[in-house]
Amino acid sequence: MSLKVLSVASEAAPLVKTGGLADVAGALPAALAAQGVGVTTLLPGYPSVLAKLGPKPGRAVHKWDALLGTPARLLAGTLGGYPLLVLDARALFNREGGPYADASGRDWDDNWRRFATFARAAADIAGGAVKGRSFDLVHAHDWQSGLVPAYLRFAPQAGGRTVPSVFTIHNMAFQGYYDAEVFAQLGLPASTWTVDGVESYGGVGFLKAGMQLADAITTVSPTYAGEIRSVEFGMGLEGLVLARSNRVHGILNGIDTAEWNPATDPHLAARFAAGKLAARRKNKRAIEQTFGLTRDDGPLFIVVSRLTWQKGMDVLAEVIDHLVGTGGRLALLGTGDAELEQRFLAAAARHPGRVGVRIGYDEALAHGLQGGGDAILIPSRFEPCGLTQLYGLAYGCVPLVSRTGGLADTVIDANPAALAAGVATGIQINAVNPAALASGISRAAQLYHQPGAWKRLQTNGMKADFSWRASGAAYAALYRQLIEEQG
Ligand code: ADP
Repeated sequence: MSLKVLSVASEAAPLVKTGGLADVAGALPAALAAQGVGVTTLLPGYPSVLAKLGPKPGRAVHKWDALLGTPARLLAGTLGGYPLLVLDARALFNREGGPYADASGRDWDDNWRRFATFARAAADIAGGAVKGRSFDLVHAHDWQSGLVPAYLRFAPQAGGRTVPSVFTIHNMAFQGYYDAEVFAQLGLPASTWTVDGVESYGGVGFLKAGMQLADAITTVSPTYAGEIRSVEFGMGLEGLVLARSNRVHGILNGIDTAEWNPATDPHLAARFAAGKLAARRKNKRAIEQTFGLTRDDGPLFIVVSRLTWQKGMDVLAEVIDHLVGTGGRLALLGTGDAELEQRFLAAAARHPGRVGVRIGYDEALAHGLQGGGDAILIPSRFEPCGLTQLYGLAYGCVPLVSRTGGLADTVIDANPAALAAGVATGIQINAVNPAALASGISRAAQLYHQPGAWKRLQTNGMKADFSWRASGAAYAALYRQLIEEQG
């Protein structure tokens, strides 16, 4: 049976991206096409998305006079060759800045309205509001789409179908939590103001609503699916995870092998494959040049990350002197907390030629770093899946990771047994603190100077399969099960 699924996401690569959600939403259509599932993606009409629809996006395929009070229309386009729908609600989405925050990084005050309206539109579309487009299931991602299951279940449009829903948590830390007073403007029945509905700790919880009301909850790695049952990782929603545990699935993200393939990557100075690692040297030279690093034969560590507490970047800042002391160099690309940015810039000033820092978001440079760095540092305090370690593995840039979430599920630590068996792909640290990270860095530096062992780490990672094949099949099986259940 060929299924039709509406995937509802607030970002999707390559049109708009702030993190891993975009990579996943951008890759799902192709991953699921291989499983006989047709995915249409719904995105908000940010300026960057509207611009890429071209100068003449064509006639609207649907119009709302007042979608939760805002005039809106639906435009059609394509995302990587697959069907795309864009909610063009100018008052809400057509503004300069990021998808969730203004240019200074401050969240938009009306985010609750922006994404409630987006979810309302998604529920209408999934219910059959748009002529000629029907769907068997809706797959909503993260808090921005959390109200979709609520609208579908409790406020379907007149005559609309109710289709099953899957809700994927890409990060439990972002919950879309708002004051109780916004509830009256969501267009939901008063009966949903309860702990079994959208209420959460006295306010409205968008993520919580998705988790409470979707027919299935998925998160992006098996280990994180287990971790969010605990107080440490559940961020206040662990009770709900436990209550619905028979509906929670961990499905690992894959990588988009069209975008991230070292043999074809247009962003690299030199392309390469597992049997041709020497070509990586040219990419390393490019990094040295870009980051003002002196050339030598020690390991070149890289970072491509949001600069935040979650990512353990404060801990990395503590151990940079140690990293340099072991003969390592560091090239860091990231944006995030202003204080962390300053600390990294200060480290670069302290270690000229040894530490180079680029504050900013640069897709091409991210590829270049993976293609020429020796090891990528990912000391996250929690990591639902993580993609940068997967890109590292695919590009022969050995990941040094903390043992949590998807990092634990995808990197095989170079302990003596794994080295002897020839299966190791990276280095794991047991805790996120300066001592543990420093010792991981020392371990990496030692291994780096054993060229046979290091090359084995690189090639093991490059040969591992992190494509979407297995995970695409897992999502398709889940969709089919839910549709069958609903009969
Ligand atoms: P998260 O979504 O929590 O930020 P992931 O590892 O799942 O972490 O995904 C991060 C994605 O964002 C990867 O594709 C990574 O390459 C990209 N990325 C992060 N920071 C930057 C940056 N400063 N420049 C370019 N790409 C970045």
